[in-house]
Amino acid sequence: MEKTTLNYLWIKGEKVSTTETIDVVNPATGEVIDQVPNGGKKETKLAINAAYEALKPWKKLTPEKRESYLVKWADNLLENRDELAAILTEEQGKPLSESRGEIEGCATFIRWYAEEGKRVYGEVITGSKENQRISVIKQPVGVCGLITPWNFPGAMVARKTAPALAAGCTVVVKPASETPRIAIAIFEQLMKTGIPAGVANLVTGKASVIGETLFEDRRVKKISFTGSTEIGKQLMKRAADQVKRISLELGGNAPAIVFPDADLDLAAKAIVDNKFENCGQMCNGINVIYAHGEIKEKLTEKIVNLAKELKVGLGSDPGTDPIQIGPLVNEAALKNVEHLLQDAKEKGAKVETGGERTGDATGYFFQPTVLSIVTLDMKLTQEEIFGPVAPILSFQKEQEVVEFTENSPYGLAAYFFTRDVNRVYRMAEELDSGMIGVNGTSLSVPQAPFGGIKESGIGREGGFYGLEEFLELKYISLSLENDEGGY
Ligand code: ADP
Repeated sequence: MEKTTLNYLWIKGEKVSTTETIDVVNPATGEVIDQVPNGGKKETKLAINAAYEALKPWKKLTPEKRESYLVKWADNLLENRDELAAILTEEQGKPLSESRGEIEGCATFIRWYAEEGKRVYGEVITGSKENQRISVIKQPVGVCGLITPWNFPGAMVARKTAPALAAGCTVVVKPASETPRIAIAIFEQLMKTGIPAGVANLVTGKASVIGETLFEDRRVKKISFTGSTEIGKQLMKRAADQVKRISLELGGNAPAIVFPDADLDLAAKAIVDNKFENCGQMCNGINVIYAHGEIKEKLTEKIVNLAKELKVGLGSDPGTDPIQIGPLVNEAALKNVEHLLQDAKEKGAKVETGGERTGDATGYFFQPTVLSIVTLDMKLTQEEIFGPVAPILSFQKEQEVVEFTENSPYGLAAYFFTRDVNRVYRMAEELDSGMIGVNGTSLSVPQAPFGGIKESGIGREGGFYGLEEFLELKYISLSLENDEGGY
């Protein structure tokens, strides 16, 4: 396949280049695959100017008209699914099948918000005087800065841009420096819809400079960020200066809890599917597995057997026997996994399978790893592993795992497996987390509010709640004249 050139920003509907560039690396080979613009303050300002100019006409369009652009965008993504998946895999590493699924997911998400944009309702409230009429309307927030991460570099662009545009906002997107090409390519498909120039802009480059320019400009009314808790906290502080609205989707420490009455085959399969998806680099990915003492041995055996079957390799390999695990995103991610594993081993964890780097020494591959005899003093039970390592702990009482979630600074997702309906309600209500998966681990659907509590973030993506992130309330009080001209 001919290599697609993707070395430009999107500002006011035009491709814009810069003299300075940043290298994009293929994590499966360590090779530089492309250079994208190193956009800075100047380019970000131009993008904000364009988004600001485009705002008034865009927000005045009917939702149906905005829908028409979004639907075309979704169609374009599906038509170019294979090419886009190849671009995504080349810079991110995940298997082509996952990349294809991600592009399809973008289209599903965009279509959902294209529809939902038509359902922005207001409210009429009874007044305090006979002639007072109170109404509440919802209006677009304005220009939004959308900062996206590298782990779902396609999905996150769609998940933020679609609700923003559907709500009537205009945007400046800043993709992660590791994975800018897929964002540029996804924007190309948006530009092909004929969307008015300036409604959606994209700037690649140094995060801190682009971020700062977005924060300091008063015309940018909202920042939506997905990334690490550490950077999220910095951005929240920065937002305080102008009381800029901010949504944060940050890290997590999700437990998967398996009770003795669970269907153990189902639990093991769901846990392995989630844990090793995207090489374990998923914010709502399982971080620790809590197996009840009665079934710990059996569950561990099933998880280990499934993990051993996983094929690690080049994500771009289209072979008849597709791989399930690609490389980690970079050397730092690989080193972090090794560091956490070493700490766990020193503190007594047993490696049931995996535990080593694998494949071509130039790529960032790591074997799917399962650990048993894991205890809470090990760092990997407290920090996000973000890699293909599944630590199994044991527990006896529900309260132990409830306390684990209560004691964690994070609160994104928790999963549990049981067939006892009483326990389903007890646990779902008590676990301290924004999302709960019962007897399954898939959470990311367009109609549901994805997001966390505590240090896992603020705000939600998905569902009507996701649209509200891009809407402001306005309350209008009207005093009616009576038929004699008085009040
Ligand atoms: P990760 O650990 O997932 O790479 P980061 O929080 O470092 O997460 O990055 C997530 C996104 O935030 C990326 O697009 C990154 O470029 C961007 N980013 C990082 N630092 C800043 C910053 N100071 N201001 C704005 N954006 C930032």
